[in-house]
Amino acid sequence: MLIPLDCVVCGSVDALLCGPCFAKLAQAPPLLPPPGADGARALFTYDEVGGRVIGALKFAGAHRLVRRLGPALAALAPVGSDAVTWTPATPANRRRRGYDQAELLARDLAVRLGVPCRRLLVRGRDQPQTARDRSGRTVGPRLRCRPPVPASVLVIDDVLTTGATLATAARLLRGAGATTVEVMAVAWTPPPGFDG
Ligand SMILES: [Zn+2]
Repeated sequence: MLIPLDCVVCGSVDALLCGPCFAKLAQAPPLLPPPGADGARALFTYDEVGGRVIGALKFAGAHRLVRRLGPALAALAPVGSDAVTWTPATPANRRRRGYDQAELLARDLAVRLGVPCRRLLVRGRDQPQTARDRSGRTVGPRLRCRPPVPASVLVIDDVLTTGATLATAARLLRGAGATTVEVMAVAWTPPPGFDG
């Protein structure tokens, strides 16, 4: 199996994400939590450099890239969560890649934080969302919750864009008994026109 060793941003040899490129990642600003979440954090902004790191999470070598990002994610994580979970990829994406990068992130983070990693959310075609937009299409991710859910949950995803997926996750987890839901992403996508 071919495993890339070069920096995923600049291509310099023997560093999966080299120090200078890591330093170039733009820190995400304080984020407004999606509805239902108590807090939201992201490691960096999805710009040109950040986009390459996120892109690399979808290819071979993702496991090691997750470990490279792990210490910074653990330092950013809120304290006091009872469990870490993740927003699952669609079954098609998971099948195509052979893994779910959000799950890899959650498992690595849980070990670093010393809390359990739990598969609290599942996604599939068999559980259509009831929400529909005006044209009658089903909207939002087709997630459902697998109880029992602990009181304080940290949900991780690779990218936070509109926050719709994480808002759905937060709603489901609260509905199943969570009292605190913190969400975290590796990258945050600025809305159009954002010039922070
Ligand atoms: Zn580099």
